[in-house]
Amino acid sequence: SYFRFSKALVMLGLTFVVLTQAQSQPWSLLQAPKDLTLKLIRDPVSLSVASTDFGHIVHDNPFAIFSPSSISDISLLINFSNSLPIPFTIAPRGQAHSVNGQAMTNGGVVVNMTELNGFRNGAGIVVVSDGTPYADVGGEQIWIDVLHATLEHGLTPLSWTDYLFLSVAGTLSNAGISGQSFRFGPQISNVHQLDVVTGKGDLVTCSSENNSELFYAVLGGLGQFGIITRARIALGPAPTMVKWLRLLYNNFSAFSADQEHLISLNGRNETIAADYVEGFLLLNQPPLDVSSFPAPDQPRITSLVTQYGIIYIIELVKYYDNSTQEHVEEEVKLLVEGLKFVPTFMFEKDVSYEEFLNRVHSDELFLRSQGLWDVPHPWINLFVPGSRISDFNEGVFKGIILKQNITAGIAIIYPMNRSKWNDKMSAVTPNEDVFYVVSLLHATGFDKVEEFQAQNQQILDFCENAGIEIKQYLPQNKTRKEWMKQFGSKWKIFQERKTQFDPNRILSPGQRIFN
Ligand code: FAD
Repeated sequence: SYFRFSKALVMLGLTFVVLTQAQSQPWSLLQAPKDLTLKLIRDPVSLSVASTDFGHIVHDNPFAIFSPSSISDISLLINFSNSLPIPFTIAPRGQAHSVNGQAMTNGGVVVNMTELNGFRNGAGIVVVSDGTPYADVGGEQIWIDVLHATLEHGLTPLSWTDYLFLSVAGTLSNAGISGQSFRFGPQISNVHQLDVVTGKGDLVTCSSENNSELFYAVLGGLGQFGIITRARIALGPAPTMVKWLRLLYNNFSAFSADQEHLISLNGRNETIAADYVEGFLLLNQPPLDVSSFPAPDQPRITSLVTQYGIIYIIELVKYYDNSTQEHVEEEVKLLVEGLKFVPTFMFEKDVSYEEFLNRVHSDELFLRSQGLWDVPHPWINLFVPGSRISDFNEGVFKGIILKQNITAGIAIIYPMNRSKWNDKMSAVTPNEDVFYVVSLLHATGFDKVEEFQAQNQQILDFCENAGIEIKQYLPQNKTRKEWMKQFGSKWKIFQERKTQFDPNRILSPGQRIFN
C-alpha cells in the first residue's frame, strides 16, 4: 500500500519532506485502536456525502468518516493520527455549508460533528439565565436550535447569520456576520469561552482570560487550531416582534451615506437606532425577482429597476415587544426622517422576531421544492474598505456585473464597524473604521460554474489593480502568496499558532492554507 511505501521511505531516511506535514493518503485502518475503528465509516454513500458541500464545486474523497460518540473520541482520533510516522488529515464537518471544500479532506478523515448530538443526550444547548445570561452550546449545534432554546427563557443571542441552519462551530471558525454585526460585532465577538480539542489532541477550556492564545486563534481561525466542542454564547433579552423596512435608492452615494449614517446611530441615539441594517441590489437582469414586495407595487418597482439598471435597497429592522410597542412607530418615523430613498419607495411590515431571523429558511424550502437548492454555488464574499466602496460600485456592480449580464442569485452589501471586531482574533478585516461586506451569492447550473468563477476572479483582479485592499470572507485562496496577503500583518502569528496548536498540520486541510 501507499502507507507501506511511505514507511519504506522513512526507513531509507527520506523523510525530510513527508514528515513536515500531514499527508493526504490512504492509511491502514487496522492500525487504529479498536475504539476508533468501530466509529470509522467507509460505506460509499457516507463517503460520497462527505466529498461534497453546499458549493457543489469541489470534490475531495475522504478515506473514512468518523462518528464520535464523545469528546474524548475526538482526542483519540487526533492522538492516533499524531502517533503515526505520517499523520493523516482530519476535517471537522459541521453542516458543510461551505462552498469551496473547506470541510473536506482528500484521503483523510472527516469528523461528522453532528454525531455528537447523541452524546449530548438532549443537553446540547444549556441556557443559564441568572446574572449575565449565556448559553453553553455544543459546537455541532445549529443556530436555529439555539434560537428556540433561548427564546424559551425570553433570551436570545445578539449577533446572527442570515441563515440559521449552520453549525455554531462552523460560523465561529469564520466570524458569523449579519445585519446585527455593526452593533454587537460578529458572532466571534459574542463568545465568552470555548472548549477546544487542539491539533495535539488536548482538550482545553479557553477564554480571553485563560489560554487566551488558543481562544483568539480559534475565533475566525478557519478550523486550523482545534476542534470546537463547546461555546459559551452571550445572550440578551429577546424582543417578540420586529418592524422590517425596505427603502429603495437609485443613487449609490445616497444609499451608502444613509447606510453609514444608520450604523453610526448606536451609542449616539440608542432610542431610535436600528437593530439590524443590511442592503442588497436589484439588477436589471433576468430573473428580476420583485415577488417579496407587495403585489400592487411590483410593476412600479420593476420599472424603477429598468430605468436605472441598479436599485440599491436598505433593509432595516427595529425590534420591539409589548412594553415598547406604543413608541415603535414614532421611533421608526424619526429613524427614516431625512433618509434619501426614492420618495414613496419605502415598504414596511411587522413580523415576529423568530420569523424575521429565520427568513432565509422559507427561501430554502421554496428552492428545494424547485430542485434549486442542491446546485452549484460559485459564491464570493468580500470585505471592502468604506473609503473605496464607491469605486467598487463603479468598477464591479456597474463595470462587471451589470455589463456581463450573467448574475443569478443575490447580491448583498452592508457596512460594519471595525471597532466591534477584536484584532487579537484570527479573523481579518480591512484596516478602516467602516468596511462593507459584499456577498455575491450565485446559484447556477453545472455548465455555468466556470463563467461565474471567471467573473469572481475578474472582480478580485479589479480590486487588485485599483488598489482596493479587500479581504475575502469565507476565503478561497489558492496560493501561499494569496493567504499571506489575506492575513497581512497577522500571517506571522497565524503560522506561529499553527505550529503551537497543530504542529503536524492535520486539521481542516480543505481550507488549503497549510496543506
Ligand atoms: P462547515 O462548512 O461544516 O465547516 C466550515 C469550516 O469550519 C471548515 O473548515 C470546517 O473544517 C470547520 N469546522 C467545522 N466544524 C468545526 C468545529 N467543531 N471546530 C473547528 N472547526 C470546525 N455566513 C455568515 O457569516 N453570515 C451569513 O449570513 C451566512 N449566510 C449563509 C447562508 C447560506 C445559505 C449558506 C450556505 C452559508 C452562509 N454563511 C453565512 C456561511 C457559513 O457561515 C459558513 O459557511 C459556515 O462555515 C457554515 O457552517 P457549517 O456548519 O456548514 O460549517
